[in-house]
Amino acid sequence: MFEVRGYAAKSAKAELEPFSFKRRDPGDKDVVIDIAYCGICHSDLHQVMEEWGGAAFPMVPGHEIAGKVSRVGKKVTKLKVGDSAGVGCLVDSCRTCPSCRANLEQHCEGRASFTYNSTEQDGVTPTYGGYSSQIVVDEAFALKIDPKMQLNAAAPLLCAGITTYSPLKRFGAGKGSRVGVLGLGGLGHMGVKLAAAIGAEVFVLSGSKSKEADAKRLGAHAFVLTSDAATMQSLAGRLDLILDTVSGKHDLGAMLGLLRREGTLALMGASPESLALPVMPMIVGRRFIAGSLIGGIAETQEMLDFCAKNRVAADVETISVKDVNAAYKRLAKGDVRYRFSIDMKTL
Ligand code: NAP
Ligand code: ZN
Ligand code: ZN
Repeated sequence: MFEVRGYAAKSAKAELEPFSFKRRDPGDKDVVIDIAYCGICHSDLHQVMEEWGGAAFPMVPGHEIAGKVSRVGKKVTKLKVGDSAGVGCLVDSCRTCPSCRANLEQHCEGRASFTYNSTEQDGVTPTYGGYSSQIVVDEAFALKIDPKMQLNAAAPLLCAGITTYSPLKRFGAGKGSRVGVLGLGGLGHMGVKLAAAIGAEVFVLSGSKSKEADAKRLGAHAFVLTSDAATMQSLAGRLDLILDTVSGKHDLGAMLGLLRREGTLALMGASPESLALPVMPMIVGRRFIAGSLIGGIAETQEMLDFCAKNRVAADVETISVKDVNAAYKRLAKGDVRYRFSIDMKTL
């Protein structure tokens, strides 16, 4: 075991504070990553605030991890010391169940080991996330990051990137399709960049008029203020797919009306409150509602390679770790353009 420095919430809703803990010495298949940057996902905030229930403390959040490999076990083949590498929301899974065999480790039917607020495969050892100096992970759950990528802007790809990339692919978005992105935050801005990069026509659906210019700069074809009834009406029945990234309670009916016949509303935003489902627009338009949870490891690698090739990365505000509590307050108010990335050198 070796000592690692990090930041943790010691109890639900507590401010994050310095916290030292131990990580395992690397086994034959493990890599040690010196964490350079870690993005702040709204899921970190939901979990520290215990909005989803079942949280374990102390909690070291962070699942948008990017850094450099500093040690490798003797059977590691995928990475070498000095490589840029990342870790997303998963650090292990059973690897044998049907979901794992289908490269959907996030839906492991045995036990998915999430990067924090979870346990290792033994079911008892707590996992601690990326607001820390180093992480130890089996190479099977480490991702390769192109050495040319800036690590502060690459880190958010490990959650916000894959979470929006996966449904775009699953629902066949591309040239000739119209994609709505609801909520222009961390996930939403990646959804816009990725949908534009694959050739879709992108419509930002936002509650914040102040984000209009950014939406266009990020690659959107149009910005639609969701409170503007006339513009919403002009878009009725036109979208093939909507990525719903909203973190709180909102109206699904208004969104369903924008979809064409058999269009899909894909839910990524994990509102702690249930959302009402109006049945008529579902039936009348033969529409679909789908859920989507991050993406598997192979698809995450595919997304990172796509981003390297197409020069896609997050728009980040890089912060010092001592400012993490202030950043949480701003994230809760939607005041971030568009992802905080913590510089771990400041630990
Ligand atoms: P974020 O940066 O806070 O962005 C959320 C955006 O949604 C806001 O910028 C705002 O955009 C809009 N919004 C927030 N509250 C709203 C409300 N009550 N009604 C309407 N619009 C609202 O958050 P994020 O990091 O992108 O995460 C978004 C959600 O996805 C969170 O719930 C998070 O836990 C979840 N998530 C899910 C997965 C998954 O695998 N499914 C992965 C990561 C995160 P506008 O100002 O443009 O309206
Ligand atoms: Zn996340
Ligand atoms: Zn499994």
